[in-house]
Amino acid sequence: MQFDLRKFIAAGARPYHAEYQCDLSARDFAGARIPEPVSVCFDAQPDGTEIQMTLRAKASVHGECARCLDPVESEETVCAEWTVRQRDLDDPDFELPLDEHGRLDVDEWLYQEFLFQIPTVLLCSADCQGLCPQCGKKMADCVCQRAQDSRAPADARLSVLKSLLN
Ligand SMILES: [Zn+2]
Ligand SMILES: [Zn+2]
Repeated sequence: MQFDLRKFIAAGARPYHAEYQCDLSARDFAGARIPEPVSVCFDAQPDGTEIQMTLRAKASVHGECARCLDPVESEETVCAEWTVRQRDLDDPDFELPLDEHGRLDVDEWLYQEFLFQIPTVLLCSADCQGLCPQCGKKMADCVCQRAQDSRAPADARLSVLKSLLN
């Protein structure tokens, strides 16, 4: 969605409210995805010489566990507020995505907020043990450790024999 911020600042006396569906399925969030359309709520409220803008959305984020690579799904919420003044529109360092006509790209803003919000490292659970470096299975399923444990006494007996021989 495009929002004509320059026009709104010049003439918008009434609060603006929009609810729409935003498709972010083609965007990448550090490896995670938002496959389903996101319900977005956007508000712009004139306040003297300023505009108060609010952007709200909730999305189901799909990624994979950084340790065991299992699919991970998490709910992430964006609630961003921004105050804009007339002079911001001509500020080259203005942080929101505006085009040269002063139109705000609300979808791009939403993308940036989610990118900031979504953890770069997703985990299936905080205590995920990850994968076994030997067999590549999940630690919970792997038997390497048990195999090693049953070998350990044999090794110990061997070392006892060895010390007797010495
Ligand atoms: Zn995991
Ligand atoms: Zn293993």
